[in-house]
Amino acid sequence: MLKPNLNYSNLKDSYLFYNISQKIAAFTAAHQSAEILRLGIGDVSLPLCSCVIEALHSAVEDQAHKDTFHGYMPETGAPFLREAIAAFYGTRGVSLDPSEVFVSSGASDELGDILDLFDRGCSALVMEPAYPAYVDANVMAGRKIIHLPSGKENGFIPLPDRDIKADIIYICSPSNPTGAVFDRASLKKWVDYANDNGSVILFDAAYEAFIEDPAVPHSIFEIDGARTCAIEICSLSKTAGFTGTRLGYTVIPKDLSRSGQSLNAMWVRNRTTKTNGVSYIIQKGGAAVFTERGRAEIMENISVYKKNAAVLMETLDSLGIWYCGGKNAPYIWMECPDGMDSWSFFDKLLNEIQVVGTPGAGFGSCGEGYFRLSTFGSPEATKKAALKLASLLRK
Ligand code: PLP
Repeated sequence: MLKPNLNYSNLKDSYLFYNISQKIAAFTAAHQSAEILRLGIGDVSLPLCSCVIEALHSAVEDQAHKDTFHGYMPETGAPFLREAIAAFYGTRGVSLDPSEVFVSSGASDELGDILDLFDRGCSALVMEPAYPAYVDANVMAGRKIIHLPSGKENGFIPLPDRDIKADIIYICSPSNPTGAVFDRASLKKWVDYANDNGSVILFDAAYEAFIEDPAVPHSIFEIDGARTCAIEICSLSKTAGFTGTRLGYTVIPKDLSRSGQSLNAMWVRNRTTKTNGVSYIIQKGGAAVFTERGRAEIMENISVYKKNAAVLMETLDSLGIWYCGGKNAPYIWMECPDGMDSWSFFDKLLNEIQVVGTPGAGFGSCGEGYFRLSTFGSPEATKKAALKLASLLRK
């Protein structure tokens, strides 16, 4: 009789977004004319920029003609896109060979698939509060998880503890959910730890485009020593609004090897076995993001989200509420007022001012007492929500 992967029974049920939608549904059923102001969303709200749309249209047209038609694309990504991404890293002072860049259909897919490179006996260290997929993908594989909590005392930026031995290390900077960022010195500590222990860092750079502080690295490969211990997973979802279009990339340096195996070569073998590449049309659209015009257009969209962040940060500042994030990230992680737990605060905001955010407890136990505000909503809804928050919490 077939035995399923019983590790799945070790997954904790994730009620976070289900609970939120149930609570909103119950509230709107009882108050049908209520306007719900959503600061909980992790999805973008602005459309793709015009140069991406033009590139997508023109790629569709290519597919209509025998001489420009493309069938299967290379499994590791189209050379034009791998080269464009490597050149983009070059503008940040990171030298990559295009063969170190793998095109993917998004960071979520890669964060799960990349675990194929590691033995099931490896441990995975997850800094919490964390994006829930890090834990779940490893539980599914039966790996031991090392939960590394963080808090207000370290600004939600934990540093390595040499007494803890971890094989796979997740770093998300800027972080979802806290919006906190690792500076060069703190990332260097993790890089040194990983090189000394033979660990591999999985650096999730999904929100790098939101970084505005020059002291904050966009890529782990800006740190000396990272080429021998890190893999970077990135996505155009939040950078360029590709959440529904699907495109990302993963960087695996040729200098990264463990037990004599090149992880870059292993990933080539994996991709050529398990995918047939990302669609030509989408890769063409993605390449437009790395042009000068593309950079300018995506930064215009990001500036709308940043203005939302400024409105919310100003409100929290005026209320004297502690928070992190917002400046280099599309999320603001605020302390719940008066020692409230995060679900009670959620209920209060929904019932009293119809503002929806995300309870911190959903991102690991050390997220209790905190609340995530997203800046991806419309400017109008964000301003209304900020005014309502101010008058509610000033009372
Ligand atoms: N990593 C983090 C930290 C995220 O917050 C998200 C999406 O919200 C992802 C990865 C997934 O991104 P993608 O849309 O590329 O799958």
